[in-house]
Amino acid sequence: MDTRANIAEAVAATAWREPDRPCVFLGTDPLHTYGSFAQRVARLAGGLRSLARPGDRVAIAMTNRPEYLELLFATWWAGLVAVPVNRKLHPSEIVYIADHCDVTLLFCDQDAALREALPASRAECLVLCPDGRYQALLQADPLPLQPVAPDDLAWIFYTSGTTGRPKGARLSHRNLSAMARSYVADIAQVTPADRHLYAAPMSHGAGLYSVVFMAGGAAHVFLRSGRFDPAELLSTASAHRHVTVFAVPTMIRRLVREATTRGVDPAAFRTIVYGGAPMYVDDLRQARAVLGGCLVQIYGQGEAPMTISTLSQAEHLHHDDRVLASVGRPFSTVEVRLCDADGKDVQPDTPGEVLVKGDVVMDGYWRDEQATGEALRDGWLRTGDIGTLDATGRLTLLDRSKDVIISGGSNIYPREVEEVLQTHPGVAEVSVVGEPDPEWGERVVAYVVPEPGVALETEALDRHCLAHLARFKRPKAYRFLAALPRNTYGKVVKARLR
Ligand code: AMP
Repeated sequence: MDTRANIAEAVAATAWREPDRPCVFLGTDPLHTYGSFAQRVARLAGGLRSLARPGDRVAIAMTNRPEYLELLFATWWAGLVAVPVNRKLHPSEIVYIADHCDVTLLFCDQDAALREALPASRAECLVLCPDGRYQALLQADPLPLQPVAPDDLAWIFYTSGTTGRPKGARLSHRNLSAMARSYVADIAQVTPADRHLYAAPMSHGAGLYSVVFMAGGAAHVFLRSGRFDPAELLSTASAHRHVTVFAVPTMIRRLVREATTRGVDPAAFRTIVYGGAPMYVDDLRQARAVLGGCLVQIYGQGEAPMTISTLSQAEHLHHDDRVLASVGRPFSTVEVRLCDADGKDVQPDTPGEVLVKGDVVMDGYWRDEQATGEALRDGWLRTGDIGTLDATGRLTLLDRSKDVIISGGSNIYPREVEEVLQTHPGVAEVSVVGEPDPEWGERVVAYVVPEPGVALETEALDRHCLAHLARFKRPKAYRFLAALPRNTYGKVVKARLR
């Protein structure tokens, strides 16, 4: 047990060395220096420990706001386990997670619906932030930074659940510091001049990256609206400059649309990291043209946070579509293999399941031995993603294994069909799934969102596919929608389309 193993140590270390260094901004207003932030964190940690014992779970179901950051770090400072929960989930889903990991405290910034959904036995857990009880917690005596063992739990990451009930990936202090080291090793150095802006939900990538940017002593910027507003993001980033932001591909698309009309300050962004769902080459080319050379892609999953492979800024300048369609090369901190259904390594350029090993990989799912046994074999995490590795070590994702369509005995990867349809000028968004078919087993069906004002015809889409795809891969049916069903992290819920 050691205080240096605690990921909150970064707050104490910077506060001790440089208490006046800027730490938190709301919009462009400075809120806390590292010195004042560390004091709040130590007091809040004292308040939390008056209600919870080491190892207890503290759920945070809040919008992105400065209190979120101090709560996360106070939880770790106090030797407790954070359970960040997406605020946009239905109250019954939040209650499911709170029950599943048996939380001691549940922090929330709007309570009405949640209070009604909470069983009476858990009513005492609920703390409204930033009001009443939260302010009282901040008045507690400061708690010294608590020692932890590197494998002690820090974060239970509930998977976004595009199918079935979410599972809680157990992430330790070791996992999260390995993630921070991976960022510095393969994406960019983090310095005090950096500004990390929270645009995507902190319960996912943006919150995970708070660890990276706290470790580097950077400043943390919150949008005043507390949500992703592309115009506000552009103006706030331009006022700060040297900003890093994590976004999912749907956010990038909205950002590109906004930046196309109002322009973007070339000094605003140092790095725009995107990931969490496929980025189609057509979208990526547009993003590159509008946002410039600051784009970095990451491929990760809650079970190996933000760290399986990365496509660097330099590789984004490539003209080869195969490079742009890939998720780059494995982080130098992990090992990646591709295996067939029997667990044997596949040849280069042959589809296989992506397996990953390293300090960043979780040690299992919270209280779910069966799912843990299925996901982890001999220290290797089975991601459930199908991909190919080329002879130079570049990884390309095809699809989630359960999304692969088997039609007439041939494997069809929806991603490949989506990439083609996405290049049709009348298509705004597309998602391809398999539907049961008495003759072929499954048949390919495309759900298409047309560009505004465009009347798309099935024949035109079919001709487009025939020009670019093998015949057997082209959709047998098209269905037109106003929008694709997405979960709260912006991922398309294919199960609902099916
Ligand atoms: P989550 O655990 O919610 O972050 O979801 C992780 C899953 O999102 C991965 O297993 C992939 O299927 C998908 N994913 C993550 N990053 C990427 C990426 N860069 N490109 C395509 N899919 C991705």
